[in-house]
Amino acid sequence: MKELSVFERCRGIPAMEAARGEGLELKPRGSRHWANCPLHGEKTPSIMFDEKGRWHCFGCGRGGDAVALLSALRGITPLQAARLLAEGRPVPPPDLRAAQRGRALKLRARADQWYSTQWDLACRETREAEEMMAAFVPGTTAFCQALARRAAAELRLDTLTRLDPKERLQAAMAQETQ
Ligand SMILES: [Zn+2]
Repeated sequence: MKELSVFERCRGIPAMEAARGEGLELKPRGSRHWANCPLHGEKTPSIMFDEKGRWHCFGCGRGGDAVALLSALRGITPLQAARLLAEGRPVPPPDLRAAQRGRALKLRARADQWYSTQWDLACRETREAEEMMAAFVPGTTAFCQALARRAAAELRLDTLTRLDPKERLQAAMAQETQ
């Protein structure tokens, strides 16, 4: 069987993962994530990460996949960027690869689905808590409860962003078997 090229090995890596690896701060807005663009310098996020794992900067118009992002951020060639990204991804032995790919895709979709549901829930929880905080007088029990609710939801969001793909899948499976 033919060996996968270094670019093929990077194909499944979401741009967001490369962004995180480079220390970009990702901010949720709606169902997507955004980051400030270090390529043109700014204070409000212009880079959008989509569901397909790609990125686009509305400020400077650049975009593409994880390889393009790393290449742009580090000022290195796409090949150098692809090599760096692929290094973090061990390649399974060829005979297992085909059988595993179908299964891996399914598992990944499940983990992604779980993640986005959890994310939306926690975002909604944050919003609701903030609406309650705005409606109640600071210092009252109701206000403090809303404050605690928001803190819990923010902690949840924070925890979610720290999960790597494997941990996401574990969490998704754990929830399904409950
Ligand atoms: Zn930009």
